[in-house]
Amino acid sequence: DKGLAVFTSGGDSQGMNAAVRACVRMAIYLGCKVYFIREGYQGMVDGGDCIQEASWSSVSSIIHRGGTIIGSARCKDFRERAGRLKAANNLVQRGITNLVVIGGDGSLTGANLFRQEWSSLLDELEKNKSITPEQKNKYNVLHIVGLVGSIDNDFCGTDMTIGTDTALHRIIEAIDAIASTAYSHQRTFIMEVMGRHCGYLALVGGLACEADFIFIPEMPPKVDWPDRLCTQLAQERSAGQRLNIVIVAEGASDREGNPITAEQVRKVIDERLKHDARITVLGHVQRGGNPSAFDRVLACRMGAEATLALMEATPESVPVVISLDGNQTVRVPLMECVERTQAVAKAMAERRWADAVKLRGRS
Ligand code: ADP
Repeated sequence: DKGLAVFTSGGDSQGMNAAVRACVRMAIYLGCKVYFIREGYQGMVDGGDCIQEASWSSVSSIIHRGGTIIGSARCKDFRERAGRLKAANNLVQRGITNLVVIGGDGSLTGANLFRQEWSSLLDELEKNKSITPEQKNKYNVLHIVGLVGSIDNDFCGTDMTIGTDTALHRIIEAIDAIASTAYSHQRTFIMEVMGRHCGYLALVGGLACEADFIFIPEMPPKVDWPDRLCTQLAQERSAGQRLNIVIVAEGASDREGNPITAEQVRKVIDERLKHDARITVLGHVQRGGNPSAFDRVLACRMGAEATLALMEATPESVPVVISLDGNQTVRVPLMECVERTQAVAKAMAERRWADAVKLRGRS
């Protein structure tokens, strides 16, 4: 009688559906009642039709679809205790005490707070007669497990987040397409890719497409970057290369914290080298399309492991996030990872780049 619910929250990423499918099917296989919560925390607060029982067939034919079929949202109400009180009532009324949250560090932080507050929320619900003393006793512990859906690979504690590999596919498809036309006309293309705090997509996309220059937030160049950039591009051209590719992550800046934008880079190249330089901003294309084989399989493994972790949880267990370590799916303490991830963002905001790189570790 362990009711389990799965929801997706915050920014979407390709592979979330595969994770939802695996959670649902593993839960049914283990004999649990399993629910979808639509539209993330908003659906949990609103209740009603937003919380629906899932079946084996309700997750058929979704493994190949990008985005999330159960919807995702940002929810102000859940940031307030009053919203979380409503959410707790909606869960207790359905006998749900196990949650799989698929989202970024914000969603995982919210889930951890909800878990910590759970017994005081139930006390309040009992006091105002929304739930019975029997319900309070029966459902007195909330278990949560996190899965990280993010195209940026910006979460500490896992080698890969769900969606990153697919986003890289979108990036390299776009760069390959651009490279063929750039070659014909001897152009220089400046590609802006996502990554406000994390340059993983820019760096790995650049490596895979032999970019000539890459700007990432973690390794800000000195303010004389235009000289280095132009020397590098000029060298490539004089060695016979007919095109240049420069990649700029959204959050790139110089060492003094001045943003480096694709337009600034274009202007420098145009003015100093007189190249025909064009900008392509990949934007939401990176979030779109069908998940890669890697993301489908990663999400399946993580989703199944999340359900297993919930079924094995005891009132004393620490909430975990399911991570990839080497090629193993492992359970790691959720708040340790969230705190490290937030410390990276803080270090970057304070421009302590070396600390940020150290904190991020392998991921
Ligand atoms: P992500 O999960 O992708 O990092 P957000 O940071 O926007 O995205 O978080 C998604 C949602 O999670 C928020 O809209 C809010 O409902 C919930 N949330 C985030 N942080 C908290 C928090 N500190 N307390 C309660 N809820 C939170």
